Amino acid sequence: MAEENVFDIVVLGGGSGGYATALRAAELGMSVALVEADKVGGTCLHRGCIPTKALLHAAELADDARHGAAVGVHTTLDRIDIGEVNQYKAGVIDRLYKGLAGLVAARKVELVTGWGRLVAPDTVMVAGRQLVGRSVVLATGSYARSLPGLDIGGRVMTSDQALTLDWIPKSAIVLGGGVIGCEFASVWRSFGADVTIIEALPHLVPNEDEAVCKAFERAFRKRGIAFSTGVRFAGVEQNDSSVHVWLEDSRAFDADLLLVAVGRGPATADLGYEEQGVAMDRGFVLTDERLRTNVDGVYAVGDIVPGLQLAHRGFAQGIFVAEQIAGLEPAPIVEATIPRVTYSTPEVASVGLTEAGAKAAFGDDNVTTLEYNLGGNGKSQILGTQGFVKLVRRADGPVVGVHMIGARVGELVGEAQLIVAWEAYPDDVASLVHAHPTQNEAVGEAFLALAGKPLHAHA
Ligand SMILES: Cc1cc2nc3c(=O)[nH]c(=O)nc-3n(C[C@H](O)[C@H](O)[C@H](O)COP(=O)(O)OP(=O)(O)OC[C@H]3O[C@@H](n4cnc5c(N)ncnc54)[C@H](O)[C@@H]3O)c2cc1C
Repeated sequence: MAEENVFDIVVLGGGSGGYATALRAAELGMSVALVEADKVGGTCLHRGCIPTKALLHAAELADDARHGAAVGVHTTLDRIDIGEVNQYKAGVIDRLYKGLAGLVAARKVELVTGWGRLVAPDTVMVAGRQLVGRSVVLATGSYARSLPGLDIGGRVMTSDQALTLDWIPKSAIVLGGGVIGCEFASVWRSFGADVTIIEALPHLVPNEDEAVCKAFERAFRKRGIAFSTGVRFAGVEQNDSSVHVWLEDSRAFDADLLLVAVGRGPATADLGYEEQGVAMDRGFVLTDERLRTNVDGVYAVGDIVPGLQLAHRGFAQGIFVAEQIAGLEPAPIVEATIPRVTYSTPEVASVGLTEAGAKAAFGDDNVTTLEYNLGGNGKSQILGTQGFVKLVRRADGPVVGVHMIGARVGELVGEAQLIVAWEAYPDDVASLVHAHPTQNEAVGEAFLALAGKPLHAHA
């Protein structure tokens, strides 16, 4: 084997998990080949986090223009030019992509372009070249799932196509009320569409604390976003101008398009993983807490590993694996301390256990909760947002969950994460001084209340 084809680490897949592995490994002095079929940055940068948040920012500006008069600034929304919105979105992606590509090159990671396949436990074959790694990291990411018999095409689309639309739907049906579905519903509503969400589970954003789900549903209803929960999709027909969707309870809806947002599956088929003996479960790659697969020297990171499918989890896992391979013995990542954000209007942000989850873990009588209403928070009133911070505490123990809803609460999740990860007690946080007037202060006020000394809170 020629020396130029042997590396300390070969990473298959250049998304959040894969490129984070490569960058950290290179920082630690290892030689790295990063195999990517498309563009480094993966789903998050090109088809996920970044483009959706750019659309959500444009949507927020549209709403602000509509509602300026509420604060005496008499703006009107003239029009939304989706071509220009898409250009702005592409500009953001492009700048980040160039920066990332520059980082990869500067750290002397060898970026190998092409479709890779694991042909031996230590070898990835790409474009006729065999790359041998002393360690191999699988990071091939995920794809948008559909339902059996529900074909994607034309006006029936996933987030991949929805992100490249060059027209704004006048009406849209969103199948799936999870994060991705609710973010698109929020954007299209702000762009003027009639939106209906269909969710089989009892609530929108169903993984969140029930109090948050209910507040979120009230907020969406107030925005004129329609939704049916606890009912299953039954079928769709489309023609040149519309889709016709019907549900198992025989209700039917017509719209310009159907967005299928029913989750993401692991992109692991036909990549040689099974042939090389990698243990899998329904397409996901199984690992231990140190992200080692059952095959010696083979690791996995990102969306192909069962758990939260989030970019920052991929980054953290990538850094972890590089350090693990370098022998630094990093502390395992605690999945329960990974923050989750839905960036719609309103935003939802949470970390740790929901009230129901905490009760299941510790028993009904061993959990206390506290809700601090944003009504008492000056900055939230300035922004005209409603919502709350909910704390879930193990009785006489630390706070094990923080759940928030309201404009911009995603920006508050950093402190919430520290609180849960460091197992903070009410007095630990209540004694910290939070700047006034910030929304962050609402977290401090919630802790003051939980510590028995509420300030701007009604009993
Ligand atoms: C619409 C949408 C919005 C999202 N918003 C957020 C958000 O706001 N915040 C958040 O944290 N997460 C968000 N996510 C999730 C986030 O994008 C993923 O969790 C993250 O991208 C997973 O990283 P990954 O490295 O596992 O995989 P990916 O990012 O999917 O990267 C995998 C890479 O591997 C490459 N690849 C696959 N197979 C091969 C092969 N055989 N050979 C060569 N290359 C290959 C692919 O081309 C791809 O570039 C969103 C996802 C979507 C779809």
